[in-house]
Amino acid sequence: MRVKIAVLPGDGIGPEVTREALRVLRTVGEMSGFEIQLQEKPIGGAAVLEQGSPLPRTTLDACLDSDAIFLGAVGGPQFDSVPKEQRPETGLLQLRQALGCYANLRPAIAYSAIADCSPLRASVVKNADVLIIRELLGGLYFGEPRGMNAHSAFNTMTYSESEVERIARVAFEQAGKRRQKVTSVDKANVLETSVLWRKTVSRVGREYPKIELEHLYVDAFAMHLITNPTRFDVVVTENLFGDILSDEAAVITGSIGMLASASIGGSVDLYEPIHGSAPDIAGKGLANPIGAIASIALMLRHSFLMDQEASDVEASIRGVLEAGYKTADLARGKSTAVSTSEMEALIEQKVADILHRRQAYHAV
Ligand code: NAD
Repeated sequence: MRVKIAVLPGDGIGPEVTREALRVLRTVGEMSGFEIQLQEKPIGGAAVLEQGSPLPRTTLDACLDSDAIFLGAVGGPQFDSVPKEQRPETGLLQLRQALGCYANLRPAIAYSAIADCSPLRASVVKNADVLIIRELLGGLYFGEPRGMNAHSAFNTMTYSESEVERIARVAFEQAGKRRQKVTSVDKANVLETSVLWRKTVSRVGREYPKIELEHLYVDAFAMHLITNPTRFDVVVTENLFGDILSDEAAVITGSIGMLASASIGGSVDLYEPIHGSAPDIAGKGLANPIGAIASIALMLRHSFLMDQEASDVEASIRGVLEAGYKTADLARGKSTAVSTSEMEALIEQKVADILHRRQAYHAV
């Protein structure tokens, strides 16, 4: 097998975590006998500085011509006051829109080995495993009209039945492969878009009688997510709620650097850690690469149907954490923290060991 991947390192710690994640991917490729062709292109602030646009045409073309896309992170303080069309984040929103990826899968796993890294009690978060599915192309981020003048500003939240239906289907399908439960999060006591959301998710849910469906208001869900995260399996919600709640879910994992994501459903799927460019730690070897490496696992599973290898990468992450290794964000000031590249090397070695053992077993 030969796969073509567009690589968009972006800004801040984006290039650092991208470099590490690709090392793991290359090892899996070499040991599993599939050929990887990488095409690196600028996005975000790096692209603005290089080519004057946060999503140059050549970057978009490379993405559309690939089997999968891997992105680091975009953004930086030097772009905070530039016009919207020059903002790094605009490039990412344009890319998601151009690809048509409407479903953003964000697994939040509280590994028991680092349960004490969460500011929440270890007994509360231990073994929580929540898949947040965020609708990515609708709602306030894209709704028109939008605008501002000197003393007022406005945005529009719209959802069509078909937009809700397609994301609901993703949620029920994913729940079927997991623990058979979907929690739909809305604000149906206040918002018309949420009334439509709830009605549509319930209708789709009737086609999946084996999957338990519950509806929660977003404010109540925000509380339950940190007081009782183990009660959730798959959570489906609209764009803005999903953006906020998946960052909140990072709290149960111990660090935002742990979370991976896959944006699927469009012409090419996009994989990225959920964290931003973290300018405060860029260039210092402090970034946790696990979110980026776990995004490679999602790529292997969803784009290349390599479920076994994806599980191997995830098992390696778990194994390294169980062996006691932590990056600075997890070690919380302790001098024993490993650097970005040391964490990668440990995970890569573990993946190589697992793949080697399996090959040796099958050769017997
Ligand atoms: P951030 O995620 O970059 O950082 C928040 C905090 O988490 C910081 O203290 C940072 O040091 C820490 N952190 C983030 N990733 C980490 C990692 N892998 N390892 C260890 N610590 C990590 O969010 P922010 O500070 O709100 O935003 C910084 C910039 O990133 C802004 O320009 C923002 O617009 C952009 N941003 C981009 C994306 C994206 O590219 N998908 C997402 C969110 C924010």
